[in-house]
Amino acid sequence: MSNKMAKSALDQAGSGTRSVWSGEQVKHPYRATQTPIVASAAYGYQDIDEWYDVALGAAPGFIYSRMSNPTVETLETLEAKICGLENAESAVAFSTGMAAISSVLYTFLSNGCRVVSTKDSYGGTNKVFEEFLPRMGVSVTLCETHSHEQIEGEIAKGCDVLYLETPTNPTLKIVDIKRLVAAAKKVGALVIADNTFATPLNQSPLALGVDIVVHSATKFLSGHADAMGGLVCGSEELMAKVRHYREINGASLDPFSAYLIIRGMKTLALRIRQQQSSAQAIAEYLLTETLVEAVNYPGLPSHPNHAIACEQMRGFGAIVSFVLVGGMDTVKILLPQLQYAHCAGNLGAVETIYGPARTTSHVENTLEERLALGISEGLVRISVGIEDTEDLIADLQQAFERVRALSR
Ligand code: PLP
Repeated sequence: MSNKMAKSALDQAGSGTRSVWSGEQVKHPYRATQTPIVASAAYGYQDIDEWYDVALGAAPGFIYSRMSNPTVETLETLEAKICGLENAESAVAFSTGMAAISSVLYTFLSNGCRVVSTKDSYGGTNKVFEEFLPRMGVSVTLCETHSHEQIEGEIAKGCDVLYLETPTNPTLKIVDIKRLVAAAKKVGALVIADNTFATPLNQSPLALGVDIVVHSATKFLSGHADAMGGLVCGSEELMAKVRHYREINGASLDPFSAYLIIRGMKTLALRIRQQQSSAQAIAEYLLTETLVEAVNYPGLPSHPNHAIACEQMRGFGAIVSFVLVGGMDTVKILLPQLQYAHCAGNLGAVETIYGPARTTSHVENTLEERLALGISEGLVRISVGIEDTEDLIADLQQAFERVRALSR
C-alpha cells in the first residue's frame, strides 16, 4: 500500500498518518518494508563516465556517505519524512541538532553580516551567537524574548538573519512568528526557526512565513533518547546551499542513527498527544504546589503569551518548567525522590526526564550568565514522557511530600 500512495493524498492526511507514511514511498531492495541501513562509506562504479555523472549530480546515485547516504537522503525516507511533516520542499540531515543549527548559520552568514535573535534560545545556540559568529565578523543582537517591539526595532535597523526559537528552552517563552517574519521580510532577512520544542505536530513555521526550520532530531522526532541527529528543511534552493556546506564540513548523519530516527518518527503523533496531555495536567498541578514559585507552560492561561500560543500552535508541547522555592537546595532534594524519571540532560523521550537548567540547557553558561538570562538556580525542566498521567502526578506529589518531611 505505501509505495502506491499518492503524495498529494498524504499531504491531506492527518499528522498521525503522515508521521507513519511520509517518506515511505520508496521501493526498498528485497521488498523490505522497513528502511534498510546502508552502512557503506562509498559506492562502487565500473563505468567511469557514470561515476563522473553521479559525482557531478548529473545522474542519480551515491558516491561517498559524507556527501549523501541512501538511508539519510531525501528520496529515501528520513529527509522525506521531515518534508512530509513540515510541508517542506527539501531537507538536509545532520549528525546533531547543533551541527544543523551552526551549519545553517555558517552557510548563510559571512563577515559583516548581522543576526537578530532572542536571549532565551537554547544555550548551545546562544554560544554560537556570542562566541563563534562574532569571531567570523558577524554581529549578533540578542533581544528580550518577551519584547516584540525591541525585536522589531532591531530588525528594522537592518539584518541578514532573524533567528527564532519558540517555545524557548527551558523558559517556554513564545514569540509571534508571523509578526516577526513580517518585520524581517521588510529588510530582506532570512528567517530561521528552531521547531524542536513544538514539533511539526504543533507548529508549522514554514506556513507562517519562516524560510528555514531546524530541529534537534535527538529529541521528540527520534523520541527514544538513543540517537543523535539534526534536520533542516525549507525550499530546495536554500537546502542545496545547506547540503553543499554539509558535504564539506562533514557533519553528516550516520545511517544507523537515521534508521533510529525514522523508526521514532513513525510514532511521533501518538507520543506527542499523550505527552502534552500529561504536560498540561502536570503544569496545572504544579500551580497548586506550595514549594513551587512559578510554572512555565504555554498551555496555561496565566502564561504571558498564551494568546499567541493559541493562535500559532495546535498543541502546547510536552515540556514544562518550574521554579522551586529554596532554589538549588530544594532541587537537590526533590529530584532524587522521583521514581518515574531520569534526571538527565536530554528531552523528548518516551521516559519522563527532569533536569535543572544549570546542568542541562544552560550548562555551558556561568551562573552570572544564567542569572542575566533570568534563569534561576531553582529552575527545573520536565520533559514529560508517555507514562500514565496519574502516575506522573502521584510521583511528583510523593516527591514534594518527601521534601517537606526531610526539611522539617
Ligand atoms: N535546539 C533545542 C531547542 C535544543 O533543546 C537542543 C538541545 O537540547 C538543540 C537545539 C541541540 O540539539 P542536539 O543536542 O541534538 O545538538
